[in-house]
Amino acid sequence: MATERDLYSVLGVGRDASDAEIKRAFRRLAQQWHPDVNQEPGADQRFKEINEAYQVLSDPQRRQTYDMFGTTGDGGAAGFDATGFGNFGDIFDAFFGGTQAGQRRGHPLAGSDLRYDLRITLEEAVKGVEKEIEFDALGRCETCSGSGAAPGSEAVTCEQCGGRGEIRTTRRTMLGQMVNVSTCPRCRGEGKLITEPCPTCKGEGRTQHKRTLRVTIPAGIDEGHQIRLSNEGEVGPRGGPPGSLYVAVHVQPHPKLRREGTELAYDADVSIAQAALGTRITVPTVDGEEEVEIKPGTQPGTEIRLRGKGVPHLRRAGSRGDLHVFVNVVVPSKLSKRQRELLAEYAEEAGEPVSANGGGILDKVRDALG
Ligand SMILES: [Zn+2]
Ligand SMILES: [Zn+2]
Repeated sequence: MATERDLYSVLGVGRDASDAEIKRAFRRLAQQWHPDVNQEPGADQRFKEINEAYQVLSDPQRRQTYDMFGTTGDGGAAGFDATGFGNFGDIFDAFFGGTQAGQRRGHPLAGSDLRYDLRITLEEAVKGVEKEIEFDALGRCETCSGSGAAPGSEAVTCEQCGGRGEIRTTRRTMLGQMVNVSTCPRCRGEGKLITEPCPTCKGEGRTQHKRTLRVTIPAGIDEGHQIRLSNEGEVGPRGGPPGSLYVAVHVQPHPKLRREGTELAYDADVSIAQAALGTRITVPTVDGEEEVEIKPGTQPGTEIRLRGKGVPHLRRAGSRGDLHVFVNVVVPSKLSKRQRELLAEYAEEAGEPVSANGGGILDKVRDALG
């Protein structure tokens, strides 16, 4: 992770670059560094970097994640193999200036994205955590290494389209010649046909696998955030590139602390006597319990701020919110006889009129009779 380069500088654009600027920069660099064009050593590596940067920055959600976490969430080299060229359409676009929706014809389809819902505690969200997750996903078939062809056999070029995956038909119309391009129905656009399907995967090139993966959850993550792990989704059929795995994070509510962004709040109940005379209370924090002083004469609703005991900022390293303790003065609703006497005495001393059955003379009479 530490060696991950800044994606904006790979494309030579500013962090505030518009989508159009990013696309322009990518086209220019792709034409310059594509290994078919540029024979310099290292050109292919450079091209991969450019492409990877573009895949992230051209996808609003991935760009946001990258801006937020400073990482693509690829977990280092895992997202960097040659099959990781997510969107062939854009490379096609860069060279031919055309637009092409969806699959580049003559290539296998990409695999689906997957979603994993991960529950973590508030403490884990504050401190960051590494989690091992286990899930089922379609992975490469081991019998045929993903080709879909039975061992010993090979996929053959589709005769109908000549391996291009598309059929072109030319028509003469009043306006001139019209070329219609459609996906080859025989090979479904893949350009190849399997004559002898692999017995394990029935020619799909993929089978169900149980997978385990370590996911790094950054400190400060909040409910609903998603972490994208590119190339960790399902693999495509017959050697198609894999999709992404989205880890959707759910932060369990804390029994005592409320969270709002980087701030935490705690409601501390104290009695009238404690508020008036002062006391020390124990406040739960994500770093363990902490003693907090309630000063004599503390009023209901008083806020005591524990600096830096909140949630870390996702984007500003080293910066952390506060824990706000709100003092709630609880008025007793049930009093023992002795408590009532003492309070009545207090009221008398303070010159405060109180209700008779709150502990006045009549009460004393009633107690004497009762
Ligand atoms: Zn197979
Ligand atoms: Zn075909």
